[in-house]
Amino acid sequence: MVYTNINMLKWRYLTQCLILLIVLYSGIAFYFYISDIEQGIEPSFDRPPSVEGFLPIGGLMSLKLFVAEGVLDTIHPAAAIILAASVTVSFVFRKSFCSWICPIGTLSEAIWKIGKKIMAVSFNIQKYIDYTLRSIKYLLLGFFTYIILWQMSSSEILEFFNTPYWKVADVKMLKFFTDMTQATAVTLLILLLLSFIYKNFWCRYLCPYGALVGLFSLVGPTRIIRYNDACIHCGKCYNNCPAQLPIDKLKSVNSAECTACFSCVSVCPKKDALFMTFAGKYRIDIKNFAIMLLVLFFGIVMAARISGYWQSSISAEELRYLIPKIKEFHHP
Ligand code: SF4
Ligand code: SF4
Repeated sequence: MVYTNINMLKWRYLTQCLILLIVLYSGIAFYFYISDIEQGIEPSFDRPPSVEGFLPIGGLMSLKLFVAEGVLDTIHPAAAIILAASVTVSFVFRKSFCSWICPIGTLSEAIWKIGKKIMAVSFNIQKYIDYTLRSIKYLLLGFFTYIILWQMSSSEILEFFNTPYWKVADVKMLKFFTDMTQATAVTLLILLLLSFIYKNFWCRYLCPYGALVGLFSLVGPTRIIRYNDACIHCGKCYNNCPAQLPIDKLKSVNSAECTACFSCVSVCPKKDALFMTFAGKYRIDIKNFAIMLLVLFFGIVMAARISGYWQSSISAEELRYLIPKIKEFHHP
């Protein structure tokens, strides 16, 4: 029996839209929070801690400090929480952070789909160039982890967390977008054009965050399993995989590139051939996958909120004092 269920992907698209809305709201609220502070008036919005998701390097330092010393960074605690939640979710549910949660992954996917519609063609990078380019994100990850995990001592991290630079790191990130330099604008434009032409260009080749969560997913319990007896070897799964994984030749997909996007499952014409599984035997449908993933991710965030490890300790008054000097604060 021929059976495809593209409709199942609505669960992933809904999740992506939900997260994107949260990120957009946080960005707008943060923009007005900082604007009000700069104008010397009472902020009309609360500061949204989730903007610290854009400080993953600080988050990694914070996690190292917590593991090594049991000390929690109170300046930008959500940076560590969001990183920990992303890694946990990707460990349990493959590299799902990239195709379910990450707003950059969502935008990158949407831009490529628009490009494909406009140009009516999809470009692929040759295999050997693709492999070479894919290593860039691991090199970047290697560089950051070497510096943070091996080179920086706990006391150096603590020292860094006490600098004015770290205190306004989130404001600097906002200014990166609102007061964009010409070089930044050109770089973003090039990335935009490349994402238009090539599927998931940023995620596939350049993102060290994706490389990190991908490595954790390798030792996780979920993966796509293909049942050879039911498979008719049509290759639809392979042709629809954004990571270009040879699913039709594998029994089990255990690649750091698999983002649990379900694109392969959704196009498989045989009902019993392809599944997302837990521990290699329990089948998980996409709806339950979405629910469990959201419960796990937001469960970690809620636990952090309840334990008081979510809101920044930097007050509006302190920011009012620091922001006028922001250009003087450079990375130590
Ligand atoms: S299409 Fe299948 S194998 Fe490819 S990334 Fe998505 S879930 Fe993984
Ligand atoms: S598992 Fe892949 S190759 Fe086999 S029937 Fe499904 S889509 Fe076709």
